[in-house]
Amino acid sequence: LELTTLAIIGNGIAGRSLLFNLTRENNKFQKILLFSAPAFLKPCSFYTTSIVAPRGVTSGHSDLGDLIVEGFSDFSEHVKKDKPSGIFPISQFTGATTKIDQFKTRYPGGKFSRLLEGLPHSLKNEIYLAQEDAFMIDPEIYLPWLSHQAEKALQITYVESLVTEVRNGGKVYLRTNNNEEFEVDQLVFAAGAYGRFYKSLFPGEKIESSKPVQGSYLRFSKMRLGEKSFSLTLNGANLIYRAHSQEVLIGSTTDDFIHELPHLNELRRIFSELKALVAFEVPVFESGEILVGHREKARKREPYILRKGNLLAVGGLYKNGFSLSLKMTKILSRQYLLNAQSNQ
Ligand SMILES: Cc1cc2nc3c(=O)[nH]c(=O)nc-3n(C[C@H](O)[C@H](O)[C@H](O)COP(=O)(O)OP(=O)(O)OC[C@H]3O[C@@H](n4cnc5c(N)ncnc54)[C@H](O)[C@@H]3O)c2cc1C
Repeated sequence: LELTTLAIIGNGIAGRSLLFNLTRENNKFQKILLFSAPAFLKPCSFYTTSIVAPRGVTSGHSDLGDLIVEGFSDFSEHVKKDKPSGIFPISQFTGATTKIDQFKTRYPGGKFSRLLEGLPHSLKNEIYLAQEDAFMIDPEIYLPWLSHQAEKALQITYVESLVTEVRNGGKVYLRTNNNEEFEVDQLVFAAGAYGRFYKSLFPGEKIESSKPVQGSYLRFSKMRLGEKSFSLTLNGANLIYRAHSQEVLIGSTTDDFIHELPHLNELRRIFSELKALVAFEVPVFESGEILVGHREKARKREPYILRKGNLLAVGGLYKNGFSLSLKMTKILSRQYLLNAQSNQ
């Protein structure tokens, strides 16, 4: 059996989930090069509100819906079996005060309530509210955990440079901004919102319309909202309480820009709307730190796996990067990266 070298571009949740999947399967790689360029391209996976929840989605309606249901089930299995650090089981409360009929169709199990069941908190008024089992992720803990697991099983070399050129001719050749060159057998792009330069490497694929979309949110520290973490979504706006780090996140905006400046008016609107609905204390807007992440929105919001010879790409994870990375990279590795015998 010939052992080969794999390069992965991307050290966010997608790249690390791929590594994790490779530790679980009979992979053929002697060596893995992991490229990332945090100084140039900020990883969205550390600038995110990272909740994994089914959000009322059931199977049988759309491809994306089916994937989300399967992704949630795979993720739940992962939590149960692997006991990863940085993942906290929580209740996701989701409510709406407008378009109630539409909302009820998506969440038929909800009810009119003021109470957030199991928590010492309530809303100002009774509204239609659904409750689901979900997971709150702290990327600062979970992402290093994934890498640590991968490092125990695989030989990984980290290269912190910007990949500026990729050529495919039997072997794959990479060049970085500081003019280093690498030769590998296979390459996977897990490059998040920064995939634009490789579009031309996958001709004919429908990724032309995929684009970066900015998301901003507020982070309040030294918050004491009790022992239990939770996530509350009202009219599409999120409030997440991380009990272990005593933080509250409120957001997030959705804006077609990739620079760092947030859509402040929209963030204020979201903040005020949430504050008006909850009966517990929320600090003033100005005391929050504003954080910004960049995610990739692909056609029909659907994530993709691409292949052209020895080049592969996984992307379009958009608002579901934490819910879908494990599932998508499992599909990718099973289809294209495993030994012949475990491919079956
Ligand atoms: C405000 C906000 C809230 C969100 N909430 C949720 C949520 O509740 N649940 C959920 O599941 N998802 C959520 N998401 C989405 C999720 O965070 C993203 O989908 C996910 O983090 C994307 O991960 P990624 O690994 O694909 O990309 P990234 O984390 O961006 O990683 C990309 C990596 O590729 C590297 N890279 C790219 N190009 C190159 C190159 N040429 N050379 C070298 N390195 C390169 C970068 O340096 C980086 O390391 C949210 C996102 C935002 C912004």
